[in-house]
Amino acid sequence: MGTTRRTLLAGGGVVAAGVAGLAGRRLWLDREPAALPAVNASGHLLWQNWAGTQHAYPATRAAPASADEAAHLLKTAQGPVRMVGAGHSFTGLVSTDATLVSLDRMTGVLGHDPVTLQASVGAGTRLYELGPALAAIGQDMPNLPDINKQSLAGGTQTGTHGTGLGFKALHGGIVAFDLATPRGEVLECSATSNPEVFNAARVGLGAFGLVTRMTMQNHALTRVKKVTSLRPRADLIDGWDDLLRHHRNVEFYVIPFSHWGQLITHDATTEPVRPRGPETDTDGTMKLKQARDVLEFATPLRFWTADNLISGMPDQIAIDHGWKLLSNERPVRFREIEYHLPRETQIPALREVIDAIERHRSDVFFPIEVRSIAADDAWLSTFHGRESGSIAVHAYYKDDYTFFYTLIEPILRRHGGRPHWGKLNSLKYDDFAALYPRWKDAMAVRDDLDPEGKLINPYLLRVLRRG
Ligand SMILES: Cc1cc2nc3c(=O)[nH]c(=O)nc-3n(C[C@H](O)[C@H](O)[C@H](O)COP(=O)(O)OP(=O)(O)OC[C@H]3O[C@@H](n4cnc5c(N)ncnc54)[C@H](O)[C@@H]3O)c2cc1C
Repeated sequence: MGTTRRTLLAGGGVVAAGVAGLAGRRLWLDREPAALPAVNASGHLLWQNWAGTQHAYPATRAAPASADEAAHLLKTAQGPVRMVGAGHSFTGLVSTDATLVSLDRMTGVLGHDPVTLQASVGAGTRLYELGPALAAIGQDMPNLPDINKQSLAGGTQTGTHGTGLGFKALHGGIVAFDLATPRGEVLECSATSNPEVFNAARVGLGAFGLVTRMTMQNHALTRVKKVTSLRPRADLIDGWDDLLRHHRNVEFYVIPFSHWGQLITHDATTEPVRPRGPETDTDGTMKLKQARDVLEFATPLRFWTADNLISGMPDQIAIDHGWKLLSNERPVRFREIEYHLPRETQIPALREVIDAIERHRSDVFFPIEVRSIAADDAWLSTFHGRESGSIAVHAYYKDDYTFFYTLIEPILRRHGGRPHWGKLNSLKYDDFAALYPRWKDAMAVRDDLDPEGKLINPYLLRVLRRG
């Protein structure tokens, strides 16, 4: 959410005129979550995810430097053995009090083909490192998620995605990968080599083994033009199909308790570079929080205030290589639920989600994110076999988020959604089995690679085991 000086001033005036008693109530609720001990009674260091929703005290931490070392580690280590990328998943995929494995020593571009535009990459490489490394060889990732802090393996293992008609999630670009397994072997996986493992483990929740190296299909390095603008939200919702057809990458955020939304588009261009300006989303988000804090129980006034803050704000334009523009900084911590729906149910579901929030959750102020992702054929991909539209609802890290499960998730499930593997949801084995046509095949491959269940932590027990 961008802002200008004018809106900041306007916002300040409105806040000053706010109802002091209500603001006081919010101030009282606005407390940091209690800090966890940095070390537990056994002397083991705390591991915590970005959102603060998950934590553990792993007895052993390992960072193998080769695929063989990784395979030996998986075979001999105490379970549950869990892999960690950047710890940006909201769900309990990573937590273990036994063995935590990072691929931070297996990074960087290892080889590339200038004709096919494929590159072989250490699976621990962070997306923000990959951009400049690929640019040096004339390549770029076809698309990127909203942030670029994730590791390549961590991002692809949960089906991390960006947006754009015809653009698959990150794992859609995987041509091949090496997988170290708990059986102590290293499997080369592609459409022709161990194809069952390739299909089952491309999006694998770190439950099939440790991905050590990946060959990715990239694009030629080209410039894109990013335009961020504020539009009446009805235009965005009604015009979503047109927007998707007309832009390379497009998404929008509905700003709750306002009549506005933020539209972000990226399109190929040959125009000269125009570097992106300073990050303004944080400022905008905190202004929406202020409006919430003061006007939480004065809905018409909150709409009026937000509409005044937002209307008339200028577009922001930047032109540069895609890896510099497609992702953003998100310094304000939040919790998130995101479901991927069949494209035809996305907008009806979105209308219901907005209505539910504005009727029942006056504490919500984070914008609701709307994106589009192409179908792929990975067995556990949330986009398996269907073009998808996503809806994501966020809650400030100090606020209650249990309404995700009671208010939002039932709507998204009723409309045929599948939850993002890395984001909060309440589903269990039987729910997932019903959502994925190749579920049983994927489970058979998993059980074969990890017969002792060494990779299964309590969270994965709920997801991957019945009962
Ligand atoms: C601020 C924020 C913004 C986000 N924006 C988006 C977005 O725009 N789009 C989107 O789709 N998602 C988004 N996410 C979710 C995020 O992309 C995913 O949860 C992603 O999986 C996190 O990557 P990571 O590197 O942090 O992996 P982690 O969360 O550390 O791990 C994710 C999974 O990968 C496994 N894993 C890690 N390394 C390996 C390995 N080498 N081999 C095998 N398995 C491994 C882990 O065991 C775990 O199961 C966002 C999250 C945050 C916090």
